[in-house]
Order: sequence, then C-alpha cells, then structure tokens
Amino acid sequence: MKKHNFSAGPCILPQSVLKQASNAVLNFNDLNLSLLEISHRSKDFVEVMETARSLALEHLGLQNKGYHALFLQGGASMQFLMTAYNLLENKAAYLNTGTWSDKAIKEAKMLGEVVEVASSKSDGFNFIPKNYTIPKDIDYFHCTSNNTIYGTQMDGFPTTDVPLICDMSSDIFSRQLDFSKFSLIYAGAQKNMGPAGATLVVVKEDVLGKVTRNIPSMLNYRVMINKDSMFNTPPVFAVYVSMLTLKWLKELGGISEIEKVNKQKAALLYTEIDRNPLFKGYVAYKEDRSIMNATFNIVNEQLKETFDSQVKAAGISGINGHRSVGGYRASMYNALTLESVQVLVDVMQEVERIG
Ligand SMILES: *Cc1c(COP(=O)(O)O)cnc(C)c1O
Repeated sequence: MKKHNFSAGPCILPQSVLKQASNAVLNFNDLNLSLLEISHRSKDFVEVMETARSLALEHLGLQNKGYHALFLQGGASMQFLMTAYNLLENKAAYLNTGTWSDKAIKEAKMLGEVVEVASSKSDGFNFIPKNYTIPKDIDYFHCTSNNTIYGTQMDGFPTTDVPLICDMSSDIFSRQLDFSKFSLIYAGAQKNMGPAGATLVVVKEDVLGKVTRNIPSMLNYRVMINKDSMFNTPPVFAVYVSMLTLKWLKELGGISEIEKVNKQKAALLYTEIDRNPLFKGYVAYKEDRSIMNATFNIVNEQLKETFDSQVKAAGISGINGHRSVGGYRASMYNALTLESVQVLVDVMQEVERIG
C-alpha cells in the first residue's frame, strides 16, 4: 500500500499524475517514443510547455495582465540570484523569515545594497515579523510566503508602491491570494507542482529592463521570455509532470477548491497538536502557522520511540523535522489527502492513550 507521504520536498504528487507520467516515459502521446527521447522542439513537447505556462497563469488569475510564466532550471535557489541580477540596481529590502530568505539575502548582497527590514532569526524563525517599514527608495521588496523548515506562513502581504517579489516555493497553488500584487513570484516545482528540476517564475513585464548591468543569457529573464523558456533544452520531464499537476488541479476546481481541503487538513492536525498534551507546536503564534508544513515536538522525549514506531506501523513517511529544527514536521501539500492527516492524528491519540 502507498505510504502516507508527509515529506517536505520533494514530496507527494497526485497518484494519477504519477501514473500518466510513467506512461509518458514509455510511450508519450501514442508516438511510440518516450517523452525523454524526443526533441524539445517537437510539436508535442512545445505544446506541453505552452500548456504548463498558460495553466500556471490561469490558476494565479494572471492571464492578460502583463505577466510572463517561465519554467527555468537551477531551483528556487537560482532565483535568489536571478531576481537580484535582473532587478537590483541600487538597493532592495528583504524580510528575513527563515533559511531560504537568509540565503536570498546573501545572494542579493553580491549585487547591491540590502536592507533587512525585520528578522525572526534570533528566535529560531518561529514567527513572522510584523509592523516593519518598507523603505521607499528601493528597487523591490522580497519575502518568502511560506517557511517550509519552520512551519510559518505569511498571512497578509504589505501594501507598497515598490515591486513585490515573493518566493512561493512551498505554498504556490495552495491558497487564493491577490497574485496581481506581486511583480515576481518564483517557486521550485518540487513542493506543490512536480519533480525537482523545474522552477516556475511569473514575472511582470514592467519590472524588467531597469538595471544597467550586463546580464548573462542564462540568468536573463528577457532572454528566457523571448525564447519561450526554450533558450536551451528545458527539463522536459519536470515540465511535463508540472503540467499534469496543474491540469489535475484545474479538474479539482482550482486553487479555491484545494484551499478548502488544505485548511481542513491543517485544522485537523493543529487542533490535535493543541489538544494533545504529548505534543507542542514549534511556531510561537497561531496566526503564523503554515497550512502546508506543521512543525511540532513531542513533550515527553521518552515517548519518542513509541511515537516513531507507531508512525512507521501506520505507513506514515517523512515527518521528521528539518535537521536545523529537530522534532517533527508534517507537510500537507496539495496532493496529500485529509485521510492521511487523519491517520497521523489517530496515531497521536493512540500514543497518548498507551503512553
Ligand atoms: C525548498 C525551498 C527552496 C529551495 O528550493 P531549491 O529548488 O532546492 O533551490 C527555496 N525556498 C523555499 C521557500 C523552499 O521551500
């Protein structure tokens, strides 16, 4: 039987998507060729790329609003550098909410001045800073919507006149937002979309072309836009599977429908974490809790072994916390079912009973 996969990333994908993806590896579109052995310039693959890009914009409600959707390589980590390369002329502001923001800041500092408007670093990133001021004389403001490692998530986003850039790697397509507030959104595929290897970048036309530096082709959004994400050979499999997942999401009714399920899953688990005296959440304030990644600890370390073995026996996989935080982390991405969360909650209750 398939495990209940709570892995933080790479992570669970819809079973139907995995089946179609495996078929395409053997025989893609009834061509009697593998998806992996045809030209990326072939009509069949170009259509995959076009569909993936247009579905991404459609889900975000950004069609015909001056945005380009790109599928690039190098992971979200490459975007830490690429955003700065393309948009940072003098000064940018960053909100530091976790390891990923911290890394983005480090890259941006190579290209200009960086103002850290607020940080929760000294508290182990266990909350989202609020009431910070965004300077006016900056090229953009960068934030991370969901902090995969710590289990915090931004609820509101600042209203500002400067371009907003957001790393949405671990919560893209999971909840409805006014995505038109953002000038640039990026997300590595492997958390809610597909296999590692592709990164979605959604960039608004009007923020480009403002820096004076020379930008190497592979780091240049303009080049990627002009070449329809095919400047060089794209990660064909990762793009194909991402397309399948975006189709799957559309058939389910889109972000607004999946958001309902995601909220149910999160409510089920957090209610148990709060109720069960054996467990304690990692995040300091309830309003900062992520609906994607729930982090928690077991209060009585002596019961850890019992819990771990019950977890294993129940077919639950991937709930160990990130090595920098410890404890547990249950990631509840789009493809994870409410039933899987119920199985975890049942185990938590069982350990309370026998403990
Ligand atoms: C996983 C993750 C990253 C890093 O993604 P890579 O594709 O491995 O570079 C960056 N930001 C966030 C929020 C993440 O969850």
